[in-house]
Amino acid sequence: MSDLHLLTVTELVARLTSGACSSVDAVQALIARKQATDGELHAYISLDEADALAQAQVADARRAGGDSAPLLGVPVGVKDLINVKGQPCSCGSKLLRPYTSPYDATAVARLREAGAVLCGRLNMDEFGMGSSNENSSYGPAYNPWDTARVPGGSSGGSAAAVAAESAFVCLGSDTGGSIRQPASFCGCVGLKPSYGRISRFGLTAYASSLDQIGSLSKSVADAATMLQVMAGWDERDSTSLDLEVPDYAAAMQQDLTGLKLGFPQAFFVEGIDPDVADAVNAAVEHCRELGAEIIDVQMPHIKYAVAAYYVVATAEASTNLARFDGVRYGDRREGGNPEQLASCTRAAGFGMEVKRRIILGTYVLSSGYYDAYYLRAQKVRSLIRKDFEQAFAQCDAILSPVAPTAAYPQGAKLADPLQMYLGDICTVPVNLAGLCGLSVPCGFTSEDMPVGLQIIGPAMGEEMLFRVGHQYEQATDWHTRRPGIGGAA
Ligand code: GLN
Repeated sequence: MSDLHLLTVTELVARLTSGACSSVDAVQALIARKQATDGELHAYISLDEADALAQAQVADARRAGGDSAPLLGVPVGVKDLINVKGQPCSCGSKLLRPYTSPYDATAVARLREAGAVLCGRLNMDEFGMGSSNENSSYGPAYNPWDTARVPGGSSGGSAAAVAAESAFVCLGSDTGGSIRQPASFCGCVGLKPSYGRISRFGLTAYASSLDQIGSLSKSVADAATMLQVMAGWDERDSTSLDLEVPDYAAAMQQDLTGLKLGFPQAFFVEGIDPDVADAVNAAVEHCRELGAEIIDVQMPHIKYAVAAYYVVATAEASTNLARFDGVRYGDRREGGNPEQLASCTRAAGFGMEVKRRIILGTYVLSSGYYDAYYLRAQKVRSLIRKDFEQAFAQCDAILSPVAPTAAYPQGAKLADPLQMYLGDICTVPVNLAGLCGLSVPCGFTSEDMPVGLQIIGPAMGEEMLFRVGHQYEQATDWHTRRPGIGGAA
């Protein structure tokens, strides 16, 4: 087997540019690596090899013709809830099968324009609802470091594939941590851009005021490259912001001298795994050695974030998922009249967790409960936003754990949804406040499971994430460690 699959996107682009390899070579290496690993990982829902090779041939022909688009010939995997024209898009659900996208999401269209080969549908929790990938109607994905454990979620397949090097880079989506937490659990880099930075057009909506598309990659530089291509205003998403997109590769090169990094203790919740706390503390110390000033910031409302998130997210989900009634998409179940058609289709198509969220969301929006739950959650959301505003008045970025634990055994939290929800405490505040966050590898537990450091930046301040993340990454070697799955990686 060639070792092309080991390359980062940056390295692959260099080889493609110099002519040392072709896009067809890269796709073939990826297919071989997937064959060697995916029996154990189940990171992919599907990959149309013939189509991927055909796209690669087109990319190679474009290069031969003098084209030098930034991602020309680079294979990119896509989480199963982002639309890619001509490919299936089932959101990890039974309900939508066998839906095939008639159009590209804007982020995907921009990647295509930049020359990327859209290659593979990655496993996920149904409609993005979950933290372990165990809520996929295709069956779970597994953690490449220990297949008895979860890869995290909901972008579990994307993270597992990148960590196992059966994908060079993948798209994910993050509503409350679904990119950063699986990146932390699998030992790769996960970027959740600010709300409005990347168009959500073509991203199947879970909770529209929280959702963002982002990437799972092997390096911070790759995350910066992906954002550079996908970012920017889109007339099809009125919440995308019409702001100039900075030069991320340049921002990344600045050292940490003189930066102020906030380190709020509020993220060190009760029950945090001491190994996780040690790894994060050591990473913060490392940033200090690299020239940053570490300052204490108070965030008194973080402790209410999970409660507020699960009200807001479920409320929006109950509305967004109302469209799946069996009339237009997917696996329709006839029921005599339209009401029964919808009810039978939804009863048969949605999984347990999705049903739980729809019921919860409908409840918190219902008359008599709206003020007590939904409105109150919105007030808490404002308080959390204010906590961050005050923090960012004192510092340039904030450091925290990504999750209170590393990857846990399959099934460990399935019986107790509340326990699963509580694991989202460090990531949901970032979505509630519309900020950006990056997860970078920062160590391992005593059981050899990866741990991530979360870097939180102000809204539209991704250059700060890349600067801190890249400088830290270059000073450490955590990101170079790879799991042993599939033979020598
Ligand atoms: N784990 C969180 C949830 O289940 C976040 C999911 C996500 O970001 N899509 O809602």
